[in-house]
Amino acid sequence: MAVFKLDNVEDLYEIGNVLGSGHFGQVREVRERATGAQWAGKFLKLKRGAGSRLGLERKSVEKEVEILQSLQHQNIMALKDVFESRAEVVLIIELIKGGELFDFIAEKENLTETEAIEFMKQILEGVRYMHQKNVGHFDLKPENIMLSDKHAPKPDIKIIDFGMAHRFIQGEEYKSLGGTPQYIAPEIINYEPLGTAADMWSIGVITYILLDALAGCQFEDMQQERAQLTLEGKETYTLLSGLSPFQGETDEETLRNIVAMNYEFEPHHFSQTSNMAKDFIQKLLVKDQSERMTAEECLIHPWIMPLNRTQIAKRNRSSINMKNFKRFNARRKWKMSFNMVSACNRFCRLQLLCKARGPEQQELRDCESDQEDTGTKPASLLRRRLSSSS
Ligand code: ATP
Repeated sequence: MAVFKLDNVEDLYEIGNVLGSGHFGQVREVRERATGAQWAGKFLKLKRGAGSRLGLERKSVEKEVEILQSLQHQNIMALKDVFESRAEVVLIIELIKGGELFDFIAEKENLTETEAIEFMKQILEGVRYMHQKNVGHFDLKPENIMLSDKHAPKPDIKIIDFGMAHRFIQGEEYKSLGGTPQYIAPEIINYEPLGTAADMWSIGVITYILLDALAGCQFEDMQQERAQLTLEGKETYTLLSGLSPFQGETDEETLRNIVAMNYEFEPHHFSQTSNMAKDFIQKLLVKDQSERMTAEECLIHPWIMPLNRTQIAKRNRSSINMKNFKRFNARRKWKMSFNMVSACNRFCRLQLLCKARGPEQQELRDCESDQEDTGTKPASLLRRRLSSSS
């Protein structure tokens, strides 16, 4: 068992504002008392006992730490230190000040396809590096792609959240049901042995979403893209989707669409998109893992690395409709907060239930950050770090 530092983290670091929250804890700004240097602290709640349903297994945190310790790359969030107490583990990580890539793009007045490709290139460089180290991320999505400093002339991409990452060991099979429905590969849904190719599928989905949103599509016109989100089977909210090429009206339908490879380049969205860009996506959204482009291959694909002037010119001609991207991103954020509110509602109900049941359920109350989905839908099964990985 890995031993983390047992010092009280607050003796060494001043704890500041909350930067974000995940399923198992919060990320906060921290300042090292000795040097004044700024870092981020990821506070992860641990399971209290073998029977506890809430919090993280210590071995799951050890896995995340071991993987982060082994990765040193400009495009991957760095880990500095790890502290533990009885109830939580605190990861001291590189402070990433620039926010999410998609928010940065949405703030810009204009962006060329070439600039967008520059960001894709950095994502691919980070992914190629981790795959060379036999690490798969398994949760690549826009929320986990951040920027070092949005005011820098050329901000660095930083890939975050290695909570679902896995290091492959030769000869050992790995299966997992974890991930976020819109971004997961068919082999995850089918519970087949996995490889790093699953990340490449997610890169295909992210690229599709980026180009879809940038392509000047008129969301208001697309009634067929309306997705119904049902909250607790009672209230129904309607919103426009545009989130994933496989987006269904429910998570179950999204998963079915992925397995059936049910996606297309809507002419209305993609008429301005270069064939090179479409070819890039098509070579990633491939059902057979062994046929999917690797990160290495992506980096030499002509869309990323044009071979001649004609290819460069084709890239530069594609302009980006920022108005639509802003609208798309606002909707994506809205959907994320909708999901968070829905998770909080579930948590509040759990707390009430727990109060009614008495002190033996106390741990439920104490773990304020846990929003684990207890539903039986496939999407809930796929949410986070499940014990079904082998
Ligand atoms: P999830 O349950 O969504 O997988 P998690 O508990 O593993 O999340 P992270 O995704 O790592 O937590 O972080 C949660 C949020 O905190 C991120 O979405 C991001 O907004 C913010 N965040 C994470 N790491 C950093 C960092 N190094 N610097 C600044 N903000 C960060």
